Amino acid sequence: MSKAIVSTLYDSDVFKMACRQFDKAADAINLPEAIRDRTKYPRRCLAVSLPVKRDDGSVTVFEGYRVQHNLSTGPAKGGIRFHQHVTLGEVGALAMWMSWKCSLVGLPYGGAKGGVIVDPSKLSETELEHLSRRYMQEMVNFIGPHTDVPAPDVGTNEKIMGWMMDTYSNHVGHISPAIVTGKPIAIGGSQGRREATGAGVAYLVKKYLTDMKIPLPKTTVAIQGFGNVGSETALALSNYGAKIIAISDYTGAFYNAQGIDIRRALKYLQYQKVLHDFDGAEPISNEQLLELKCTVLVPAALERVVTDKNAKKLKCRVLAEAANGPTTNAADKIIEARGDIEIIPDVLCNSGGVIVSYFEWLQNLSNFYWSRDEVMQKLFAILDKAKDSVEAQKKKFQFSRRLAALTLGIQRVADAKQSRGLFP
Ligand code: GLU
Repeated sequence: MSKAIVSTLYDSDVFKMACRQFDKAADAINLPEAIRDRTKYPRRCLAVSLPVKRDDGSVTVFEGYRVQHNLSTGPAKGGIRFHQHVTLGEVGALAMWMSWKCSLVGLPYGGAKGGVIVDPSKLSETELEHLSRRYMQEMVNFIGPHTDVPAPDVGTNEKIMGWMMDTYSNHVGHISPAIVTGKPIAIGGSQGRREATGAGVAYLVKKYLTDMKIPLPKTTVAIQGFGNVGSETALALSNYGAKIIAISDYTGAFYNAQGIDIRRALKYLQYQKVLHDFDGAEPISNEQLLELKCTVLVPAALERVVTDKNAKKLKCRVLAEAANGPTTNAADKIIEARGDIEIIPDVLCNSGGVIVSYFEWLQNLSNFYWSRDEVMQKLFAILDKAKDSVEAQKKKFQFSRRLAALTLGIQRVADAKQSRGLFP
């Protein structure tokens, strides 16, 4: 079997990190050579130029991507990220993680991710709408409700999904709600989707704390990143009785040993847009937040924030990966060797978002809508099952929890490819 001939298309630290994780998992389960590279590398990608008319009449051309990593287990699925540091390699890694995530929790989906190099906070609402619609216009022939179904990610939200759904629907000539998930409820969004990722993170944290016999009222939580996922995780954990002692966004980190009033922080954000100068807690640095003594540390922003520089200094009992890829492979090794921190790996920890996206898609395709209670009940049942399968795999093979989760996800994708055979 000769090795894959691959270009430097996705070349980046984060793509290499995802590839190394794959290699380690593939070795651990003795994945046959003949299926490895087919399972590992993205199936296809599209890069697009997006000219957008600015409010002052000028035109700016943005660059966007969509990477479909795997389509063997169902339509590709994954969010679209609007961020100034997006690269094709990052989108490729995120698409790969979507494949393992969907497969781990048993969704009939492949994996994908999209991205645009843009700082959305620098665009007016009109410019943002033009960019979102233009991105979807360029994707029309590449995606579809049975091919690839986008959703929100960092820097995108319900409103953007609404514009994208409208653009696609106008193109095909009829309403097509199943083209994206995470839409506003008025146009086919699901009850519970907005809070799903955070609610899932909090639910899993609660389950692991119960296993560790740590009572929720004695639990302190530090949350890095206070966007949709971080803030919903904070709300859900404080509703369970935990104390949120630190939160942050890109403008600053804040600490309050007595506990931060999360609703007050959200109110502040509503008016100020960023946490900068938040008066409900003391300002600290992002590094200090990550190294705080707390029960649960929740990285809920971007990749590679827990590194070999700070892994030795973490003082949490649980590392709940609400973000995708927040822990570098080197940091992972250090934490494993320490043996005093339970990691809830990203592909399990933040899977609540895509699980409820799946529910949204099902509701759209059947035109039959569920109550919030139904959604939450079904979400928690899937998370329970996924957690149990990860714990069983961990125990059976003496794997770390991350390796257990990744091997389960990867094995299922590889099995599907094996069963489908190779088209000559
Ligand atoms: N962007 C989210 C993730 O990383 C959600 C994807 C989806 O709902 O399709 O899991």
